[in-house]
Amino acid sequence: MTMTDQPILSLRGITKRFVQRVDLAGKIANTFGAGLRETVVQAVSDIDLDIAEGEVVGLVGESGCGKSTLGRIVAGILAQSAGVMAWRGNDVGAMAAEQRRAWQLAVQMIFQDPYASLNPRLRVSEIVGEAPRVHGLVGRAGQAQYVADILLQVGLDGAYANRYPHQFSGGQRQRIGIARALAVRPAFIVCDEAVAALDVSIQAQVLNLFMELRERLGLTYLFISHNLAVVEHLSDRVAIMYLGRLVEIAPADELFLRPNHPYTQALLAEVPKLEAARRTYRPIAGELPSPIDPPSGCAFHPRCPHAMPRCKSERPPLKEVSAGHISACHLNGATSG
Ligand code: SF4
Repeated sequence: MTMTDQPILSLRGITKRFVQRVDLAGKIANTFGAGLRETVVQAVSDIDLDIAEGEVVGLVGESGCGKSTLGRIVAGILAQSAGVMAWRGNDVGAMAAEQRRAWQLAVQMIFQDPYASLNPRLRVSEIVGEAPRVHGLVGRAGQAQYVADILLQVGLDGAYANRYPHQFSGGQRQRIGIARALAVRPAFIVCDEAVAALDVSIQAQVLNLFMELRERLGLTYLFISHNLAVVEHLSDRVAIMYLGRLVEIAPADELFLRPNHPYTQALLAEVPKLEAARRTYRPIAGELPSPIDPPSGCAFHPRCPHAMPRCKSERPPLKEVSAGHISACHLNGATSG
């Protein structure tokens, strides 16, 4: 693994708002006085995060917390509403076309449902081989060998290149998804719940593959999961997200040994194999509030067993609680930012 001083990816103030406009039916209803208005959902708020080259960062939170939106912004599939994203020190928003094209190839995304993300009418040879051919990484004559080599890297027989996605198991399809991402020689992979749809035994195999590829190819990962147990062994650092904001970031060992934020503690309590954590912390109560109307102050306060009056009115800033470990909770001291 190579770690340099300059982050491979740097996020500053990344924010994403979605505007839900009033549709035609709503407009008609408004003529009868329904009073419907457009709604603004702030899915991601003010994210600062640096990721070092070769690092694996686990991004964890409940479904609907904004982690997939952040992953899509990092992968260039969605544009942020505010904030700056820099790739190897260069502001992505200010890149020239050629530099932007190189960045788009360098960052690839692997999705939860491999079946939905693979075109059922294309053979594996096209699914994996098309993008590298289009981008000039391989000529038509060399494509078959190129695809066979990549399939081998993800643990699939090169002879599978002539098959269609429906001829594979879920785990094999995810390997094809990984092969497709690797085919354009990325440096950074965003894995969005990449093993969530797989059986537990297959999950372990695919996670091992991710780690082998990291070692062999020096890849950097943003590994998104709702499940802390999935990211425990493969992450160097873990970032916890709640209702669009990062609430705790720590080296993985430290986060599992000494979780600081009550939300992280509650997530840990739900990981069955972490017996010690289960004994110490209470599992999370209630539902994730709506991002359309987030709670005031600390957004976690309606569910937090330690909530104080101050938590309802004042949002806690992220503060360093030990080296490389930051957390946003008023329990960490009286000063606010
Ligand atoms: Fe709980 Fe208050 Fe800390 Fe929020 S700031 S996590 S409500 S104690």
